[in-house]
Amino acid sequence: MSDVLNYDDNCLFCKIIKGDIPSTKVYEDHLCYAFRDINPQAPTHILVVPKVHIPSVAEIDGKNEALVGHMFTVIARIAREEGLEGGYRVISNCGPDAGQTVPHLHFHILGGVKMGERMA
Ligand code: AMP
Ligand code: ZN
Repeated sequence: MSDVLNYDDNCLFCKIIKGDIPSTKVYEDHLCYAFRDINPQAPTHILVVPKVHIPSVAEIDGKNEALVGHMFTVIARIAREEGLEGGYRVISNCGPDAGQTVPHLHFHILGGVKMGERMA
């Protein structure tokens, strides 16, 4: 059970942060939560989410930029701890054209495999 500030009752990732829906935790601190993607698209596929309901990258602004910076420090730490020495990809799908399916800001960490050059 974790605290989530300003959560949305209808949001899947808010429910995961609160522990109402189970997840495989990788990392947690007072600002963010990381867990394994239920449908992994690489040998390592982890999602990092803030403990506040921000819908997407489009809502990042001066009020939450420090939080987002912290999330990237966490991403680098998780990648080290997961042994992704060969590199990894960090992706955030924003909005319908990018195929965002869960409207709670999240960064995918994908690694453990040599990826193709194309990103879209
Ligand atoms: P996106 O399509 O960028 O919004 O990413 C949403 C991600 O959430 C997808 O990669 C899904 O596989 C993942 N996902 C959906 N439900 C769960 C869940 N219950 N636990 C873990 N990952 C999930
Ligand atoms: Zn949410």
